[in-house]
Amino acid sequence: MSSLTITLPDGSQQTVPQGTRPLDIATSISPRLAADAVVARVNDDLFDLTRPLESDSQLQILTTKNPEALQVLRHSTAHLLAAAVLELFPETKLGIGPPTDTGFYYDFQRDTKFTPEDLEKIEARMQELQGKALPFERKLTDKADGLSKYKDDWMKHELIQERAGDVFSEYTLGPNFIDFCRGPHVPTSEKLKAFKLLSIAGAYWKGDEKNPQLQRIYGTAFFTKKELDEYLHRLEEAKKRDHRKIGQELDLFSIQELAGPGLIFFHPKGGVIRKILEDWMREQYVKRGYSLVYTPHIARSDLWKTSGHYNFYSENMFKRMELDDAEYQLKPMNCPFHILIYRDHLRSYRDLPVRLGELGTVYRYERSGVMHGLLRVRGFTQDDAHIFCTPEQVEDEVVNCLEFATDTLKTFGFEQYEAELSTWDGGASGKYDGSRDQWELAESALKRATERLNLKVKVSPDEAAFYGPKIDVKLVDAIGRLWQLSTVQFDFTLPRRFGLEYVAEDGKSHQPLMVHRALYGSIERFFGILIEHYAGAFPVWLAPVQVVVLPITDRQNSYAADVYQKLKDAGIRVELDSRSEKVNFKIREAQLQKVPFMLVIGDREAQAGQVSVRNRKRGDQGVKDTDAFLAELQQLIETKSASE
Ligand SMILES: [Zn+2]
Ligand SMILES: [Zn+2]
Repeated sequence: MSSLTITLPDGSQQTVPQGTRPLDIATSISPRLAADAVVARVNDDLFDLTRPLESDSQLQILTTKNPEALQVLRHSTAHLLAAAVLELFPETKLGIGPPTDTGFYYDFQRDTKFTPEDLEKIEARMQELQGKALPFERKLTDKADGLSKYKDDWMKHELIQERAGDVFSEYTLGPNFIDFCRGPHVPTSEKLKAFKLLSIAGAYWKGDEKNPQLQRIYGTAFFTKKELDEYLHRLEEAKKRDHRKIGQELDLFSIQELAGPGLIFFHPKGGVIRKILEDWMREQYVKRGYSLVYTPHIARSDLWKTSGHYNFYSENMFKRMELDDAEYQLKPMNCPFHILIYRDHLRSYRDLPVRLGELGTVYRYERSGVMHGLLRVRGFTQDDAHIFCTPEQVEDEVVNCLEFATDTLKTFGFEQYEAELSTWDGGASGKYDGSRDQWELAESALKRATERLNLKVKVSPDEAAFYGPKIDVKLVDAIGRLWQLSTVQFDFTLPRRFGLEYVAEDGKSHQPLMVHRALYGSIERFFGILIEHYAGAFPVWLAPVQVVVLPITDRQNSYAADVYQKLKDAGIRVELDSRSEKVNFKIREAQLQKVPFMLVIGDREAQAGQVSVRNRKRGDQGVKDTDAFLAELQQLIETKSASE
């Protein structure tokens, strides 16, 4: 028998007989590695640990720590799901069963609908099969044989027809299950220790509405029970925090069927928060040297032709409107408008940087069906600014933008964030606009800015937009979810298309550098993130109602009205609940509305000129002088305390 040379990641080599399995090599290195092994990387491909090696190879053993191994685990669990379904419901036909970012699914065709009780049964059967430590065995089949074998399984038949080479691989799991699949999988079902089926949904074969509808079962899987439990807990938490549910309970916003999907109505309480977001941002613009501008919602198509959106972004734009003088379109972006303001007169290097900021409402077409609450909409307001500057100024400008971005996050209660820098491919493909000098200048400005700010950044090569590099800042919310928020994006294309210039010190015309930046991104979406982050219990400086005054009986109504007026005069958002309901009922209602402070007023408080303070999180805070309470409250509001 011939032998093979296997090179390990540390550069060491082993000579092994042909047919040796990656698992054998893992075992020879250490039994612990073998126990923790999930799958192997052989040269550039992922291999089953039990698949014999046939040629000299680079070999890496992937363990449970590896993200690709998690994908293999999840895909293997999808097979386990399908095997259990076939045992319980043998009439079922199999579609596909891939892993996803958070778990896996499998598509099935079956005349009867799967019920939630079926899911339980299926999961129990999966547990049973798991315990038998069934091997995932790989078999090779000739295409012709495969096509006749799967002639009654139309989806598999179609996939083999389209995707299989002359010989293709199939995997078995237990006596009844075999599936056309490229693999790889874990060695046996024993590895599949922590999984859970989550839901059933409809899905079209190959995602095409013209094809038959299938039933998709979703599940998730992890390497340990602990990770699974944490994930399920997060899912529960996310459900409780769903901004659509809380938005309705707290009467913050709505989407009106009559007006159309993806269009947001801010109700009075949501309006309070929106005003705070807008005021804060405008104030910051002014403080940080931006000029506030206001631009129209609509423009002639000629503008969109000059900017390029007419040709390259038309799918995302609302349809054109024919008016008497020309064709018009709603704006999907504010940039061309700010450019027109910049271009309205001759600029000298002494005028630069020009920073134009706006809270600009834009309209983008989204397919019906993909809209999602405040997160994915057809009309939204960006805190949009464009900076036009010289090459010498660009690094400071980027530093200012990133500082502004992190200050925004901190102000609204986010302590953790990540940054991602998307760069070009060095010019290799020719798909990027702009000169090498421009790219190098912009990328190094972005990099140096992150260094100056000590911002940890992940670099994603060849992920930039064609018109320039960018930095994205993502926040981590209260339950550990990552949300893309702020973007600082260079643009080498628009200044060229619009012929932007400034007169430099040398007396000649130069093209300014242009940066787009949005920090909230969209006010609607940021509002949605805030609702979920705080689960509707906004800190007192953001809360639509900060205090509710609750007299115990009618006797205290006049004193309660005085307290209410005093707070109102001091600028506090206060309500008076003098309905003749039991005070406990009124407290419960205020609690459900997540009002930060409740002031309960009985005879004793009324006589002493005091209030009995109740906090939504910490309950009874004892009796305080009204002025003392007001001073504490004002302190919390002024400091934008995130904890109250
Ligand atoms: Zn598979
Ligand atoms: Zn822009």
